[in-house]
Amino acid sequence: MHSLIFDCPRTGQAIDSAINTDIEAIAGFCDLRVDVTCPHCGRQHRLPIKRGYFVPFASTAPARQLRQPHASEATNHSPR
Ligand SMILES: [Zn+2]
Repeated sequence: MHSLIFDCPRTGQAIDSAINTDIEAIAGFCDLRVDVTCPHCGRQHRLPIKRGYFVPFASTAPARQLRQPHASEATNHSPR
């Protein structure tokens, strides 16, 4: 799955269209225009799908931080 992202024609910032689809599934609709409400300039943009771009729809999962195991402490400093 991919998210369809547009660039705001006024501010150039990315707008998430909330359309999640596969590139193959939407390939036949690239001339279709969608209305997106822009969070950046507050307007509604009617943009053709071919103006958008896809990003992998994976960012909803929280990034899991790998815990680094503490390799045996207190053996690193050499006593004299
Ligand atoms: Zn905008």
